[in-house]
Amino acid sequence: MKLFTYSKASGSVGHALEESAGKSGSHYIAGGTNLIDLMKDDIVSPDHLVDITALSCSQIEKLPGGGVKIGALVSNSDLANDSFIRQNYPVLSRALLSGASAQLRNMATVGGNLMQRTRCSYFYDVAGACNKRQPGSGCPAIEGYNRMHSVLGASSKCISAHPSDMCVALAALDATVQLTGEKGDRKVKLIDFHKLPGNTPELETVLLPHELIVAVELPHLGYSKNWCYLKVRDRASYAFALVSAAACLDIEGGKIKSARLALGGVAPKPWRAQEAEKLLVGKEPDERAFKAASEAVMKTARGLEHNKFKIELGKRTIVRALKVAAGGVA
Ligand code: SF4
Repeated sequence: MKLFTYSKASGSVGHALEESAGKSGSHYIAGGTNLIDLMKDDIVSPDHLVDITALSCSQIEKLPGGGVKIGALVSNSDLANDSFIRQNYPVLSRALLSGASAQLRNMATVGGNLMQRTRCSYFYDVAGACNKRQPGSGCPAIEGYNRMHSVLGASSKCISAHPSDMCVALAALDATVQLTGEKGDRKVKLIDFHKLPGNTPELETVLLPHELIVAVELPHLGYSKNWCYLKVRDRASYAFALVSAAACLDIEGGKIKSARLALGGVAPKPWRAQEAEKLLVGKEPDERAFKAASEAVMKTARGLEHNKFKIELGKRTIVRALKVAAGGVA
């Protein structure tokens, strides 16, 4: 591992920004559940680490007009098990509990979860090419073993899939990410926070240099009755999604009043399916409507040799998740 320097920010976000400012190879670190692995394997080699674990960003606060603000340092375990979140945003709690292991969830933070990197095996093989790790070197996954890769939103430069479960639920729930940096504070919609690979797969988020995630905000409507987070994977636990779906419905008078649908495991970013959501509004919550929605989501999907099964699997996952959501949760 390359030698690096380390400093710990005191309780203020401003101090963290100061510690990072002017250091081109600086990274923030909190739980470190992904970054430390990347450093050990020489995939990411920071010159300086700013430890942000002492910042006061560990609260889950109800907002006056409804909604909730979740500090970037809240652990995945604390968020999943928080009684307010379980009651009002159950799809988020379930998505979190679907991810990683209990030990990792205890260490991993909300901000870190937003920043986790792809699990493409070629990305982790420093002996080989990878456009994301080494821009311009090529993408061996396109002609290689691509079973875990994207069928939506990929490019000729990168077909990696985003690994997070939490972000899929946040995408469905209209989350906003609060950022702070040298140019001040700003808010970015979660669905705009991650970038598609295009010609620059090394650029994964809209974060500016030294900018820091401080919180995630959710609006009032948490879909506490009709929801489902369905994760299809090779093992029952501690495995990344082949396909996952966060489905939320608001049903009134036997018709769908509003719908939220987001997918994981199929795209380089959490994949919000807004066209399908619009198709569902005003329909009866039945198989016909759900199949039409699933077809709409997957109509632009492109499969490769080993991942084309995800297109049909994705459709079936969407239909099943919507059915479970429509059935209501006890
Ligand atoms: Fe690298 Fe992306 Fe290709 Fe994987 S899919 S090898 S991350 S460029």
